Amino acid sequence: TTAQHTAQEERLVVAVRVRPSQEATDRCIEVVSSSSLLYDDGGKSRPRQYSYDHVFRENDTQEYVYKTTTAPLVRDVLNGYNAAVFAYGATGSGKTHTMLGPVPRKKPATADRPPATAASSYDGDVSSHDTGLMVRAIEDIFEHIESASADNSCKVSISYLEIYNELIRDLLNPGGPLELREDHRGQRITVAGLSEITTSSRKEVVGLLMKGNKSRTMEPTAANQTSSRSHALLSITVQTRTPLGTKQGRLFLTDLAGSERAKKTKNRGKRLQEGAHINRSLLALGNCINALSGGARYVNYRDSKLTRLLKEALSGRCKTVMIAHVAPEGKHRDETKNTLVYADRANSI
Ligand code: ADP
Ligand code: MG
Repeated sequence: TTAQHTAQEERLVVAVRVRPSQEATDRCIEVVSSSSLLYDDGGKSRPRQYSYDHVFRENDTQEYVYKTTTAPLVRDVLNGYNAAVFAYGATGSGKTHTMLGPVPRKKPATADRPPATAASSYDGDVSSHDTGLMVRAIEDIFEHIESASADNSCKVSISYLEIYNELIRDLLNPGGPLELREDHRGQRITVAGLSEITTSSRKEVVGLLMKGNKSRTMEPTAANQTSSRSHALLSITVQTRTPLGTKQGRLFLTDLAGSERAKKTKNRGKRLQEGAHINRSLLALGNCINALSGGARYVNYRDSKLTRLLKEALSGRCKTVMIAHVAPEGKHRDETKNTLVYADRANSI
């Protein structure tokens, strides 16, 4: 229908996902519909309503989140366009759950239990209904390709990198920092030396992503023991050769660094600087997204590695989905509010 068509043409979709909580009392979020929620500041003023394109409540499934946010972009990518999905939110709000799914917990190795690798502990669990958007997107792409015309030949390749402290590292083949390269017109940006793995196996993809996730730089901070100060960026490239020529589309799926502020983590020295870099990337991304949603003629991608890398997915007719994650417990009230406001700004302009 026309209405559906219009919704699908929207360039920026903003969603908020509320993660489950064990706590029944002192909550700061109440979801009131599939597109709005109430935020309670702890009784200082009346609850405030926020509306977004989608609001996912605690028991919404991974499949539903995938269908609503990412599946429409996969169709675009198969048609030769670029697209991007971002998971935004404070550490512990559910970003990695959305993007990857449940990540096996690190258990200390004992004499009769050798240290498990993330990849091996996931081998038997490739059909988990909790699987996140990254694997679902790749599976969906494989399925489309299998059912497509035999005249077309497709190649799917993935790369997975981390931006930590404004340095780029390969998560599929960890090593030293990699450099961004720009062609002479500043149009195409590549990462020199980044692995691109061509694959057609779901199992291999799950293993690669889990292993890559384990290589992400995680350092304890006062705010959270495994506060993630790195952005993880999966890129899925689909090249289709048809009798009429070759087209290429690329989907970027980004598990952003925790959006909590440096001051709250009581960081000193090195980590304070990391906080500044993270805020720089998130700020630059927010600025780009705001400019895009406002239809600005000029968007500055140059302010951070993240936005430079994502330029090809944030410009032109490409579509972007921002999934902002919040924790419903009262003790996370301030971070939750910050995230709702960030998402609201992206939504309303
Ligand atoms: P982040 O990546 O934002 O730091 P995580 O994804 O690691 O947060 O989530 C924190 C914890 O909450 C994890 O144990 C995760 O499994 C759990 N969790 C988050 N979102 C959900 C959800 N929608 N359903 C079930 N568990 C979730
Ligand atoms: Mg995480």
